[in-house]
Parts: sequence; structure tokens; C-alpha cells
Amino acid sequence: MRLRFAPSPTGYLHIGNARTALFNYLLARKHRGKFILRIEDTDVLRSKKEFEKGIIEDLHWLGIDWDEGPEKGGDFGPYRQSERLKIYDAFAKRLLKENKAYHCYCTKEELEQRNKELLARGESPRYDNRCRNISDSQKERYLKEGRKPVIRFKIPERIIEINDLIRGRVSFDTGLMGDFIIIKSDGTPAFNFAVVVDDILMEITTVIRGEDHLSNTPRHIMLFEALKAKIPEFAHMAMTLGPDGSRLSKRHGATSVREHRKIGILPEALFNYLALLGWGTKESQELFTKEELVKEFSLERCKEGAAIFDSAKLTWMNGLYIRKKEPEELVELILPYLKEKNLMHLRGEPVGVRFIKPETTGVINVAPTIDKNYLTKIIVLERERIKKLSEVPDLIEYFLTEEIKFNVKALEILKKPGVKEILTSLRQELTKLIPFSQENLEKIIRDWTKRNNLKTKDVFHPLRVAITGRTIGPGLFELMEVLGKERVIKRLKFIVNSS
Ligand code: GLU
Repeated sequence: MRLRFAPSPTGYLHIGNARTALFNYLLARKHRGKFILRIEDTDVLRSKKEFEKGIIEDLHWLGIDWDEGPEKGGDFGPYRQSERLKIYDAFAKRLLKENKAYHCYCTKEELEQRNKELLARGESPRYDNRCRNISDSQKERYLKEGRKPVIRFKIPERIIEINDLIRGRVSFDTGLMGDFIIIKSDGTPAFNFAVVVDDILMEITTVIRGEDHLSNTPRHIMLFEALKAKIPEFAHMAMTLGPDGSRLSKRHGATSVREHRKIGILPEALFNYLALLGWGTKESQELFTKEELVKEFSLERCKEGAAIFDSAKLTWMNGLYIRKKEPEELVELILPYLKEKNLMHLRGEPVGVRFIKPETTGVINVAPTIDKNYLTKIIVLERERIKKLSEVPDLIEYFLTEEIKFNVKALEILKKPGVKEILTSLRQELTKLIPFSQENLEKIIRDWTKRNNLKTKDVFHPLRVAITGRTIGPGLFELMEVLGKERVIKRLKFIVNSS
């Protein structure tokens, strides 16, 4: 089997296209076939190198690799359509010679006018095939007028049927179509033509693509037939829609792979989630490793109905994948997010005194060395709560900065009568504590609470707020151990001394 993913580099990799790439990839790997990346960049105005680079990067990030493609090479290259223009030209000439195509001299304005007339009569716009049989002298007149011809394919009138691997039998009446353009007036190929020429020469056996291409398929089949080539099998995947049932777009939030990457979705989670968009096993299993997906995936189990992209579900799944990660690996993944927020703990700095906030310290302008040990401990504490990596700075900020923010609720707790006395006395107790370990802390604080005839919640709650600024978070004693004695004492002192 030879399958391909053929993106047009006119934007970053969209979630829907990533899913197309994934389905092709899974099927190719399952059947030990070849997976090919082809860049469809014949639209010079809209195609950008930056997007091609971006798409390649995002596919790699997602964990999709290919056997042949630009840069990678292969026996069927080049794999960028812009480098294949001579090939399309030769194929078009062949069709002209065999009288299966012809030059059309109609101008844009003429076509628009004729389409308007068709619409006025209640018919759908299409080319009326008028240049099929124009005389040589007419052609010359047109050329003298400076008209630049396109090449159109002569549509044979018939019913075309395909046996779509997802949708079953689909038929099309070509009598309702006008002859279509295969080479534009600037000499570049039309999308429909380049796709077919490439699928023939790259010996593609199975075409999996979005349902939005279904209406192009009869044109492709006619071209395959005209070029006497073997027709590949087709599978048209249902579109990816937003939760409101409309086409997935900006208003549904992040729509590109890149945006998901930025907000801290893990590639494994997105890979897994995309596979479930319009596909599933009988058992409705939800979590799959890549290897399992390669093994289980089949087009027969692809659903015909639209796939709903539910970012809440993806986020949930991401949380599960985050929990599976080793804390050390999570730390590495989180560093860029901490850097972005200027939140990094400096190794060797006196604990609790100064943390990275270059603009406020004024002293530390050297590249920060990160105390990964400290970060790892923090991550172990917070891992359960992380759903997206981008949330981590907010979640763990109080470990890394001395500028703790207290919200209204937290301040209310600190202002309760008796709280200051409790914290003053506790601070003295804790100053003596060695080692400052979870077990020790728990014992000492519980004993102290009992001795003073207090309820645990009246002690634990203000204590938590005073040292974290928050009313919720990980286990109090665990987090105190991780914060460390100096920081805890310093924070308590700050609260006790502030009015
Ligand atoms: N270049 C087309 C697109 O990005 C894909 C063409 C195809 O898969 O046949 O939609």
C-alpha cells in the first residue's frame, strides 16, 4: 500500500488535516506500506515556505513520520508540486495530443457573465464547453487579442461510481459538469490535475482525504481513465466539526496543531484523541498507545457521520497523559512555560530570598541555572492537577516567587480574629523544627493544635493561606516540606508582621 498526505502550505496544520494525516499514517503503518508527504504548493500566492516548515515540524511533533517526502527524498520525487511543473506540462500535452483536452480562450469576465445568466435561469454555474470546437482561425484571433488560454479537460458524459471505503457507493453524473481546467493561463496546473498526475506517478494505492474533496473525485477518476492509469481506492472522511455542529473554526478555540502545542497539549494525547475523531473500536476503548492504534485502525470502523472536536475531552485526556509522565520529563516540558513567565528558581540563591524575576532583582542577569530538583518535587505534588502544561506556571507560582498573591477569600481567612496569634505561635514552633519533613511537620502541628484546644481546620486553613496565598492545593505538610523551612518561616513572618 502507498498512501499520502498532501497538504497545501497555505496555513499551519489544522486539526482536521492532522487527522487526515494520522489516518493515512496509521493505515500505511498497519499494512507495512509506505507513507508519503507531498507538498501541494502550486498556488504561489497563498503557499508559504514558513507554513511548509511549520506543517513538517508539527507532524514530527505529533509523532507522524513518513518514508518519502521533501528533504527526506525517495524514488518518486520531487515531492513538492512546485518542482514538478514540467511533469504536469508533459501530461497536459499528452491529453491535448490525444484530443482529450483543449485550449480555452474564454476570459474571466465572459465566464462570469455566462454563469450569471445560468443562475438567472435557475441553473447551476458551469462551463458551457464552448471552446471545445473552435476553429483555428478563431484561435488565432483570440491569441492576437492577447488572450492567454487555459487547458481544459474534455469531460466524457457518463455516470461515475465509486466504492468509497468509508461511505460505500457514491455516484456522480458528469453530464452536470462543465469541462474543467487542468492547466491555468499562467502555465501552472490546477489542483485537480496535479493531484492525479502525482497520485499516478507516486503509485498511490489508497487516497484518504476529507469529504470536502468528494466532489472532486469524479474529475480525478476521469483523469485517471484518460491517462490510462490504475485508479486508487478512495476513502472520504467526514469533516471535523465544532461542538455546535459547524465547521471547526477559530471561534471554537484552538484549531491548529501548533496552538494546541502552545497551550501544552502533549503530542501523545493529541495523537490519541485525533484517532478517535470518527473512528473507534467496538469496545469503545479510549486510551490507545501509538502501537495499539497502528494495530487496531481500520477504515471499516470509520464513521460516516461528522466528527465532533471536543476540546474539553482532549484536555481531560491530556491530563491522563500528563499523569503518566515521569516527573523529570514533565519538568523539562514545563521549563519553556516557566521561562515565558519569568518563573524560574535559581540554584544557589538563598532559599526564600530571591527568585528569578530579572526585572525586579536587578542583580541576576546571567542565564539562570534551574534547580531541577526543587521543580521535580513541586511537580510530583501538583501533577494530578495539571491538565495543560500552560496552566503550570499559575499552578506552581507560589513555589517560585516571593510575591505571593492573596485573593479576597484568602485575605478574609487571614483577617479572622485569632489567626495572627495562631500563626505567630506556630512560627515559633516551626523555627525549632529539624528536620523540616512531612512527618515531623504533621506531628508537631497536630500536637500543637491539640495542646491549644483548637480545631484542625482553624489552624491548617490559615497556615495554608499564609504560605501559599491559596485556599486549595496539595497536601499541607507535603507542600511545606517542599517549600522548605526558610521559605515557610519567611512567609509566616511576613503575614504576622503585616497589619
Ligand atoms: N492539497 C489538498 C488539501 O490540502 C489535498 C488533496 C488530496 O488529498 O487529494 O486539501
